[in-house]
Amino acid sequence: MKALEEKIRKDGRILEGNVLKVDSFLNHQIDVPFMDKVGEELYRLFGDCGITKIVTIEVSGIGVACLAARYFNVPVVYAKKSRSANLSKDAYSVKVQSFTHGGEFFDVMVAKEYLSAEDTVLIIDDFLANGNALIGLKELVEQSGATVAGAGIVIEKAYQEGGDRVRATGMRVESLARIRSMDSVNGVQFCEE
Ligand code: 5GP
Repeated sequence: MKALEEKIRKDGRILEGNVLKVDSFLNHQIDVPFMDKVGEELYRLFGDCGITKIVTIEVSGIGVACLAARYFNVPVVYAKKSRSANLSKDAYSVKVQSFTHGGEFFDVMVAKEYLSAEDTVLIIDDFLANGNALIGLKELVEQSGATVAGAGIVIEKAYQEGGDRVRATGMRVESLARIRSMDSVNGVQFCEE
C-alpha cells in the first residue's frame, strides 16, 4: 500500500534494537482517517473470505482491527496478555514471547464464549517480526475449532523470520507494507522497490 509506505518513510523513526516507531499514526496517537484506509484495504483483500470475527492482540492491534471491522461488519476479539498465569477453564490460552518486551513470555487468552467452531477468523496485527505473536494467535483461534482465513498485517519486517515461519504453516499472510531493510543511515527500504 503506497500511501502506507510513504507515511512510514515520513513519520517512522528507527530505534535501536530493530524497532520501528510509528507512534504518530499507529501505536500511540492513531490517525483515524488514515488507518481507516488501512482497514478498507484489508477488507479489499479478505472481504470475500466469509469472515465472522476479527482477532487481534492487545494493545496495538486493537485500533486497526476495529477500523477494519467496520468494513467487515463483524466483532473484534482482542486476546489479552498477562504476565502471571491466571488461566481459567473458560478461556483458550497460549504462551507468546514478546518482541518489544525483551523476550519476556506472556500468557495470552481469549474467553471461550467469544470464539467457536462456527467462526471464520481474520487475524490482524500491527507488526510481523519474528512471528511469535501471529503463530500464538493462530494456535489460540485453532483451539476453538474456528477456521483461520488468514492474517492481515500493517507492517511486516520482511528481513526477520516471521513471514517465512508463518507462511510455512500454510496460513495466508497479507502485509500492507513489507520492509526489506532499515537503519538510521539509509532509512527504510521496502521490498517492492
Ligand atoms: P513478533 O511476535 O512477530 O516477533 O512481533 C510482533 C509484535 O511485536 C507485534 O504485535 C508488535 O506489537 C511488536 N513489534 C515487533 N516489531 C516491532 C517494531 O519494529 N515496532 C513496533 N512498534 N512494534 C513491533
